[in-house]
Amino acid sequence: MKTDFDAIVIGSGLGGLECGLILAKEGWNVCVLEQDMSYGGCFQSFLRKGRYIDTGIHFVGSMGEGQILRQYFRYFGIFDRLSVIQLDQDFDSICFKTGKVYFYRHGYEDFVNSLADEFPSEKIGLQRYADKIKAIGDTIGVEVHESGRLSSGGLDYLGISAWDFICECVSDPLLRNVLAGINPLYGGKKDAANLYHHAMIAHSNIEGCYRFVGGTRQVADLLVDSINSMGGTMRNRCKVARLMADGDKIRCIETMDGERLTARYYISDMHPAVTFNMLEGVSVVKKAYRTRLNVMPDTYGLFSVYLLMRPGQFFYRNKNYYFYVKEDVWDTVMESDLRAKAMMLSMQLGGIGQRYTDVVTLMSPVSTSLFSPWLDIPRGKRSEAYGSLKSQIEQNMMLEAESCFPGLLRNVETVYSASPLTYKDYTGTPAGSAYGLLKDCRRPLMSLIPARTKLSNLLLTGQNLNVHGALGVTLTAATTCSELIGMEYLAKKIGRA
Ligand SMILES: Cc1cc2nc3c(=O)[nH]c(=O)nc-3n(C[C@H](O)[C@H](O)[C@H](O)COP(=O)(O)OP(=O)(O)OC[C@H]3O[C@@H](n4cnc5c(N)ncnc54)[C@H](O)[C@@H]3O)c2cc1C
Repeated sequence: MKTDFDAIVIGSGLGGLECGLILAKEGWNVCVLEQDMSYGGCFQSFLRKGRYIDTGIHFVGSMGEGQILRQYFRYFGIFDRLSVIQLDQDFDSICFKTGKVYFYRHGYEDFVNSLADEFPSEKIGLQRYADKIKAIGDTIGVEVHESGRLSSGGLDYLGISAWDFICECVSDPLLRNVLAGINPLYGGKKDAANLYHHAMIAHSNIEGCYRFVGGTRQVADLLVDSINSMGGTMRNRCKVARLMADGDKIRCIETMDGERLTARYYISDMHPAVTFNMLEGVSVVKKAYRTRLNVMPDTYGLFSVYLLMRPGQFFYRNKNYYFYVKEDVWDTVMESDLRAKAMMLSMQLGGIGQRYTDVVTLMSPVSTSLFSPWLDIPRGKRSEAYGSLKSQIEQNMMLEAESCFPGLLRNVETVYSASPLTYKDYTGTPAGSAYGLLKDCRRPLMSLIPARTKLSNLLLTGQNLNVHGALGVTLTAATTCSELIGMEYLAKKIGRA
């Protein structure tokens, strides 16, 4: 087995796989190491009763013709083999306990007009909101890539509060909450949420919100196949334990089994704090920097309940729902009463043309501290108390979902759930945070972790650096690799693929 490479990528989440493939396409001899049995990190789907259940991706944005995520998948050579479906024109429903429901619609004109129908006096403010969101989203568009850049300045908005911007645009308190109603997609906290993340996610969904049909693991599988076919090496069940450095360079990595592997460059798709905690023998990284990484807050976790539906019983809805118990959409995090304050509901589609859903997923923001008593206990060894905590949350979320979707529970065959600790077990995200490092508009520079590190041959990638999610992580993979093969060259290749 080979032990020396041009680049070793640690972690096969979307970011790691994409870095592996970008470099393999350039003729680099790459090796991607994954601790888990399955590749893909949050793109994994697990099999139960013959059905694949998606874990960390329920829809993606900017997947329409001429849009940037589709362009990247085209550049990777996998788009034509993906099975995807565009969500309905009203792709998101923001639902309040009062029974009021508001829709996000595809295309800016429809988006503005449909909300202006509900809030006629706010049309000018809605247009202003939409224009800015689009302008920020366009900073990473295909045309920008064609011109040899990966982005054209959107990061300036990291220091602007998303909520302040929304409040400047519109004055109706309910409409403000409707516009902020997708904040669980970025782990939003009212005082910290920045306009860059808000705009990237809102824009990518308004321009083209799609779902993978038949499981998100297809993306990971296709990327793995492509890396293999280009001569790359994929190794699963290979957990990296140590990064061993000499001076300002990584000398080798060591796996849990004690195997040592070497490369010219090392790219980590792990959380930066985890990466730096593994470093040994290094003098160029100050202790204060490591301490800072370890104390920087992460986003909250998500508790996911997967409802396996009786075959052919429950109609598939080609959209997403956000249920809010209160009008204040920022007050989302489940506390010790274990009751969901906010819940996202989406359905999976097993095959194109099917009318019924296999799996309904409920997700609620939850404080990772609720699970801290079991943080260091390996999976399978956690106490009964952990099991009962999970069951209690599961029950509460299901009852809440039934009140929003009468008849839902009648059609449930089996229930599975994932706590933040499950995500920690399968992706290594510290404490089970859903989206990694919290990007705080009050401390924009602190929130910006560059791909380059003080070690000349160690780079970072993945959701902790820039924006999380399929699109954010994809852009970051390109940014990371551009440090090795040149930004203009890579951006043009992607933009013109
Ligand atoms: C519940 C949930 C729902 C989400 N829904 C969506 C959605 O609908 N749409 C969207 O766009 N985004 C969504 N996201 C966010 C998105 O899934 C992530 O931002 C993205 O997939 C992260 O990719 P990544 O490469 O940064 O890391 P990860 O997917 O976390 O992958 C990291 C990989 O590194 C591996 N690893 C860790 N430590 C080691 C080690 N020591 N040795 C070897 N390997 C290691 C892990 O096993 C893992 O495979 C969701 C996230 C969650 C948690």
